[in-house]
Amino acid sequence: MKPNPTSRRDFLRHLSLGAGALTLGSALASFDELLLADKKLGIALVGLGNYAGGQLAPALQQTKNCYLAGIVTGTPEKAKTWSAKYNIPQKNIYNYQNFDSIAQNPDIDIVYVVLPVSMHKEYTIRAAKAGKHVICEKPMALNAADCREMIMACKQANRMLSIGYRLHFEPHNLEVMRLGQKQVLGKVTQLETANGFTWGGPPTWRLKKAMSGGGGLMDMGIYAIQGARYTLGQEPIAVKATQEKTKPELFKDVDETVFWELEFPGGLVTKGKSSYNNNWGYLKAKTEKGFFELEPAYGYGGIDGRTSNGPMNIPNVIQQALQMDDFANCVITKKPTRVPGEEGLKDMLVVDAIYRSLDSGKREKIG
Ligand code: NAD
Repeated sequence: MKPNPTSRRDFLRHLSLGAGALTLGSALASFDELLLADKKLGIALVGLGNYAGGQLAPALQQTKNCYLAGIVTGTPEKAKTWSAKYNIPQKNIYNYQNFDSIAQNPDIDIVYVVLPVSMHKEYTIRAAKAGKHVICEKPMALNAADCREMIMACKQANRMLSIGYRLHFEPHNLEVMRLGQKQVLGKVTQLETANGFTWGGPPTWRLKKAMSGGGGLMDMGIYAIQGARYTLGQEPIAVKATQEKTKPELFKDVDETVFWELEFPGGLVTKGKSSYNNNWGYLKAKTEKGFFELEPAYGYGGIDGRTSNGPMNIPNVIQQALQMDDFANCVITKKPTRVPGEEGLKDMLVVDAIYRSLDSGKREKIG
């Protein structure tokens, strides 16, 4: 944790000296705000791959409540480059062997796990045991049972756990939650969500089931599943799924394209699909009085949406900066995060049921 150089506390001190106590009351929105202004929590990124390097580290240059304080990497060369680029002191650089000694480092408040999925559980639990709050990337773990272990370990260590669900801080997706859950255009009568991309590069850990837990469904489908859940503000009770494989050699170990139908309480059945072989990214809802939709719906930027009343005209934001700032705020003010481990677990319960349905060929209950 480091002090904020231009702290609101200093500002307020000057203000009270100059203008008197009357202005102080109005300038000080809340005690929490004062607390926030004086703290910047230190985040250590674990796993310096594409997402950490391309999105999270740049976003951490824009955050107000937290900063990039440390890194955990197995590659000494990366340690050098990152240290120089982001001014990270040697004492805040760890590898996978000495990671647990991060417990003794007061600069690190939050550990952000950005590793292959099969490593999420181990590093989340080790971070919590080291006394750190944790953000874990999506999908939360290989299956729901592992999610439960992670949640339990963080509870036992009295540390907060959040999942890297950036779209819960993205204004178009927040608008969809409002439109759907508050039934602004009437009840949702049809909903379809889809997410995928066409795999172009060489095979990586994502195509090895033991490391990824699955293919397009785990990686991309998780957004489409969540899109349905947050549009309706309900948890699905059952699912029926099918799949298609046009490149069995490339996707011999994981799913390529998966289609599913989710049954929600009250009877609505929504459609979803995920793919490593189709460029999809939308959320489309028909309602009693019209429609609303996002396309593209789930990217880092460029999200666009419209309703039956016209275009949404909502600006895009740096989702990851808002997401990490919000979590730091939650840690400082001891408020629950809107994307806790339980949210990751709910998605994994659906994913597990989809895989069961692909195996059985039948409708499967969720949970
Ligand atoms: P990546 O392959 O680019 O990076 C993985 C990192 O883990 C690398 O630095 C690699 O060196 C390290 N690593 C350590 N041990 C490893 C091992 N045994 N095998 C392979 N790599 C190992 O992957 P990525 O795209 O950065 O994804 C990392 C995590 O972030 C995944 O969980 C992914 O789902 C998630 N992610 C989230 C978003 C999002 O929008 N929230 C976007 C992309 C990725």
